[in-house]
Amino acid sequence: MDAASDEGFLLAVLNSTPVIDGVPTDDFADTARARACLASVGGLGTEAELQHLLRVRQALRAVLRGEQPADVLAPELQGVTSVPAMTDGQIAWTLSAPPERRLAVQAILAWDALAKHSPGRLRPCANDECRLFLIDRSKANAARWCSMAVCGNRMKARRHYERARNTQAE
Ligand SMILES: [Zn+2]
Repeated sequence: MDAASDEGFLLAVLNSTPVIDGVPTDDFADTARARACLASVGGLGTEAELQHLLRVRQALRAVLRGEQPADVLAPELQGVTSVPAMTDGQIAWTLSAPPERRLAVQAILAWDALAKHSPGRLRPCANDECRLFLIDRSKANAARWCSMAVCGNRMKARRHYERARNTQAE
């Protein structure tokens, strides 16, 4: 799991159910492995932590696909505070969240930061058989696929095939 940045962590969580060779998979389906994975990115590695993260994963996807209002995330933010402290003349904010919800909250805050600073840049792959999300950092903001190599080429090939078939049918 890429946890080098909050965005990397968020994307890793959102993209943890890839479709591989046409078969939907879930990186978190194996609970023991999922918990070890969370522990490796600084989490507690507990069942409760995993459950919070799975709920947030599902909620964030629904929000990003426009199926749910962002309010569905509110319960996970209850009791979360940010505490300022002055160090060397600079204010640093420290997140204070119930330990079992810290990773889930981190994912929500990364989503919020992206939505504010780069609205619309985090979105689902345009291949409706793909369940991945992408963060478009290009100037044109016209990226449609999680990966040009995988979904981009697949969709191009499909369009080509459909055109060829339609031409034959005429
Ligand atoms: Zn894709």
